[in-house]
Amino acid sequence: MPKEIILQKGRERSLLRRHPWIFDGAVAAVSGAPLPGDTVEVYSFEGNWLARASYSPVSKLRARVWTFDQAEPIDQEFFNRRIDAAAAYRSRLALQNVTNAWRLVHGEADGLPGCVIDRYGDFVVCQFLCAGSEAAHEMILAALRRDSSIRGIYERSDTDARERDGLKSRCGLLWGEEPPELFAIRENGISFLADLRTGHKTGFYLDQRDNRASLPFCHGADVLNCFCYTGGFGLRAAYEGAKSVTQVDLSAPALELARQNAELNGFYDSLFTYTKADVFEQLRRFRDMGRQFDVVVLDPPKFAETPKQLEKAARGYKDINLLGAKLTRPGGFLVTFSCSGAMTPELFAKIVGDAARDAGRSARIVRTMGQAPDHPVTLDFPEGRYLTGLQLSLS
Ligand code: SAH
Repeated sequence: MPKEIILQKGRERSLLRRHPWIFDGAVAAVSGAPLPGDTVEVYSFEGNWLARASYSPVSKLRARVWTFDQAEPIDQEFFNRRIDAAAAYRSRLALQNVTNAWRLVHGEADGLPGCVIDRYGDFVVCQFLCAGSEAAHEMILAALRRDSSIRGIYERSDTDARERDGLKSRCGLLWGEEPPELFAIRENGISFLADLRTGHKTGFYLDQRDNRASLPFCHGADVLNCFCYTGGFGLRAAYEGAKSVTQVDLSAPALELARQNAELNGFYDSLFTYTKADVFEQLRRFRDMGRQFDVVVLDPPKFAETPKQLEKAARGYKDINLLGAKLTRPGGFLVTFSCSGAMTPELFAKIVGDAARDAGRSARIVRTMGQAPDHPVTLDFPEGRYLTGLQLSLS
């Protein structure tokens, strides 16, 4: 019996617009007893073929579309084509001119739902985040291994997202050589050591590459880099000629790597202050001390995992942006981000605008920011956009 999903009446509309997600509530019937990750044919209530998708019986996101082309089977050739297309796009972006690390596959936006693949030099780090990409992972690996420049493939499927599909976390070498203990990224003239095995995401926030490279106003500035992780924006600020850089993060290992990164780049140690603290508290301490900075960077972790959590998250964003604005000298810059998928750029601009006004400051947009283009967003799938940011000049 063929494995099939039949949608509720009228629920084919999003698929006809090539949106790749099918929620449990849209499904009228399932036949052929598909197992987690199996490929299913998707039909409208009226019986029209719509798509071929991977099935996930436990997730609210019941199926994710592999293809809208009925003539395209989900076989090794399919994965080879998808990986080749993803690589060709990155190659056209000429990323190799500015870095040796980039995202090769960004899930749905590259036609491979639930699959993230980052390239660190000759090493590749993968995340299989849903039942479909999990079931297909051998074919995805085989597709990658056709590239003879790849020396090792490492798995970092250790994100909470897998739990929603009933999958356990899994990490380790999948093929070839182990990556080095710390991989040296070379990005826009700066070196960053990244721990591919235990660092955040696959080791580094590759999505912030272009935003890190856009800080010309740090020259001669006192810079406060909140949620600094391994130093990112602060190291770039030093590269731009900052007078001082204060790096704040809760994580001691991240701060230690930030320190190593500063040394690796030959920056004077005296330029940096490292503060292990909760940013919410540290900003208040600075306020009470009357400290001011020329540039304040706020790049917090995701405050909202789901749209439901957005209201609480909004209070968090408002709080740090209000304090951040207060700590910014007149004529200075506030560089602020949200990586909560549910946060739209419009809502974020409103929250930050309210925060600046409450701080008694007027804010001018210098630059609106998003994720780097190796983390593409398709117009059919706006959910792929998760990073939004603003550079503001405050008077
Ligand atoms: N800007 C960085 C990435 C930041 S990721 C870059 O470009 O590489 C978010 C960081 O916030 C993580 O390093 C995490 O340890 C830290 N963090 C999370 N909650 C925090 C809190 N309440 N106070 C301080 N740091 C926090």
